[in-house]
Amino acid sequence: MAGEPQADCLFCKIVAGEVPATVVRETETTVAFRDINPQAPTHVLVIPKAHYPDAATLAAEAPQLAADVLKEAGEVAAGEKAEAYRLVFNTGSAAGQTVFHAHAHVLAGRGLQWPPG
Ligand code: 5GP
Repeated sequence: MAGEPQADCLFCKIVAGEVPATVVRETETTVAFRDINPQAPTHVLVIPKAHYPDAATLAAEAPQLAADVLKEAGEVAAGEKAEAYRLVFNTGSAAGQTVFHAHAHVLAGRGLQWPPG
């Protein structure tokens, strides 16, 4: 069922505390934790606690929760004192998505090129 925890999902395991993570913020509906393979001095992932496979599904099925994730991304950037930051939602494996639990990458702390690779 939409939003239910998935036994084989890494980020559901982080939400459940079964896999450790460096959590920087947590709300009733979201968790933000540092990426294990940071691509910038600040690289934090913001996820909904409920399981949705990607950002598009999250936005379609739970728009308030999608808004919570966006708000938290801004709070993370503020907490990191980032003057500028980039939000990335890789959506689909061809776009680089490797974990199929919706997540926003918050990237900051270095110059960020455009277009991204
Ligand atoms: P995606 O490629 O799906 O957009 O992003 C998944 C992100 O999860 C990657 O940046 C990857 O480094 C990160 N990641 C993968 N496994 C773990 C883990 O066990 N812990 C943490 N904190 N991040 C992870």
